[in-house]
Amino acid sequence: MKYPKLRELKEAVVALIKGPYTSKFPRQTHKPHPNFRGRPKYNQDICVGCLACENVCPVGAIAHRDSLEDKPPKRTMIHYSDTCIFCGQCQAYCITKEGIKLSNEWELSMFDRRNCEESIEKELLLCEVCGAAIGCKDHIIWIAKELGELAYSNPTLYMTRLKELGISDDDVKSAVNISSRSDRMKIVCARCRRKTTLTTEKI
Ligand code: SF4
Ligand code: SF4
Repeated sequence: MKYPKLRELKEAVVALIKGPYTSKFPRQTHKPHPNFRGRPKYNQDICVGCLACENVCPVGAIAHRDSLEDKPPKRTMIHYSDTCIFCGQCQAYCITKEGIKLSNEWELSMFDRRNCEESIEKELLLCEVCGAAIGCKDHIIWIAKELGELAYSNPTLYMTRLKELGISDDDVKSAVNISSRSDRMKIVCARCRRKTTLTTEKI
């Protein structure tokens, strides 16, 4: 017969007096350690929809969907907690530092995987010429603010910023036929800007 060691006997006596080391979940709500890495959560107000978190996620737990026909057009950022490995890469590489943060949320088991999705929506900025998505409006404004006066080298950046400040005409007509270089003073995608700069023919 194998007798218990003294250390094990001591632990058994302590456990009898103090109670078990493990939590009493589910009878009692478990409170995880403050540094626990639980489900990442978006902050609707701080996230600018830049997609950096989607690009660095090693397991594809973040995706996005652009809806150009919506009014206003929008980008939906989606996080899948059933795929997430809680590595924290998305938080570490978030350009705004707090657009997505790991939380203390840890009770993630569920029967329907569709409930594993959590999403936020951001307004998209479209090219005033071809209608292609340039990026999220908040992202363009964020870049313009980061660049400061350097943003005035790019009409898309400073026009977006001026519109946000309410000191620019919000009713800029779409230049379906770009005919002159003055049409460059519009919110346009990189492809259309290249055309207004380099093409001599009407496009
Ligand atoms: S914590 Fe890691 S796995 Fe989860 S969404 Fe962020 S980057 Fe992806
Ligand atoms: S701002 Fe942060 S959370 Fe939002 S899309 Fe960019 S990296 Fe992701």
